[in-house]
Amino acid sequence: MAKPILLSTPHMGDREHQFVTEAFETNWIAPIGPHVDAFEQEFCLAVGSSHATAVSSGTAALHLALKLVGVGVGDEVFCSSLTFSASANPIAYLGAKPVFIDSDRLSWNMDPHLLQAALEQRAKVGKLPKAVILVHLYGQSADIDPILAACQQYGVPMIEDAAEALGATYKGRSPGTFGTVGIFSFNGNKIITTSGGGMLVSEDASITSKAKFLATQARDPAPHYQHSEIGYNYRLSNVLAGIGRGQLLVLSDRVAARRHNCEVYEKALGNLPGIEFMPEAPWGSATRWLTCLTIDPAAFGADREQVRLALAAEQIEVRPVWKPLHMQPIFADCDCFGGEVAEDLFDRGLCLPSGSNLSDEDLDCVINAIVKCARVRSSNK
Ligand SMILES: *Cc1c(COP(=O)(O)O)cnc(C)c1O
Repeated sequence: MAKPILLSTPHMGDREHQFVTEAFETNWIAPIGPHVDAFEQEFCLAVGSSHATAVSSGTAALHLALKLVGVGVGDEVFCSSLTFSASANPIAYLGAKPVFIDSDRLSWNMDPHLLQAALEQRAKVGKLPKAVILVHLYGQSADIDPILAACQQYGVPMIEDAAEALGATYKGRSPGTFGTVGIFSFNGNKIITTSGGGMLVSEDASITSKAKFLATQARDPAPHYQHSEIGYNYRLSNVLAGIGRGQLLVLSDRVAARRHNCEVYEKALGNLPGIEFMPEAPWGSATRWLTCLTIDPAAFGADREQVRLALAAEQIEVRPVWKPLHMQPIFADCDCFGGEVAEDLFDRGLCLPSGSNLSDEDLDCVINAIVKCARVRSSNK
């Protein structure tokens, strides 16, 4: 049987092994150490941030970010609806409640007008959210300026979930560096990976140092173990930080490879009736972490699910676009402003194999399988 073509797999460069070996040779196997410090500094340089704290996952980073801006029991937090559940789960960890905001069609990210309306509505009833979590989806930045302006107008801190957007730009700068706090992920399927890991960045050193404190069990400065706050065990291992340092060196290659995938797909499939690619918004450069498209079944001759199953039968892994969080059973009782755009993108949207290690032959396989779906149906008519 042919080798399966997967959605997004780890892609190591030349240096990761050397950094990991160094950690072994110096016996720095702990969740602190020189690779962790260096990874934080090198990450700051890569994204243009002043301070960073490396943690065990993007989810952990988001949990700390919410805690650091003061989210607690009974609070509301606004969050993009079209995203992975990890964007909103940490709201629930803190006993707070998510309120979801729909996407715009231009970027598939949070609609600034809807956010403005939602803040206005909550201000009127005297219950502003404690934070807004702005997600940058599939390697593309949201329209940050109007969203940040709306947050500032109401004095609500903006937290950026840039887990999927490392390497992207918004008006020349990295998404994740505009809000009070930004978070990134190095999970196995992200554009670079430490197998598992995350980063919290901020311009405010007191935020990243408090994050470090909370992530290491909140130990007060004392010779014995003294605690005046509940802490977490969230720091990144020095071994994994070594992988991260190697991966950062090839980040721009990984972005170029994923953009290349998208260009090849777009050239081959963009003119098929009913196929539309996730647009690249005019305000920046997307990494195309995942290449996504929508299928209009009437025009194409098959719907998203038929295409997904046909490709699965050929060992090609494709996935529907994120199921909006306002449609998820766990968040069924949460408010949502809008929702139709995210629902439509979920209904018709498909993510194609997008790894930076795919060959042109792999891309051809995917393309041929999709083209066949269109033909099979039209020949039946
Ligand atoms: C992957 C991801 C996360 C979580 O990151 P982990 O490192 O897997 O915990 C959060 N938000 C989004 C949008 C993600 O894609």
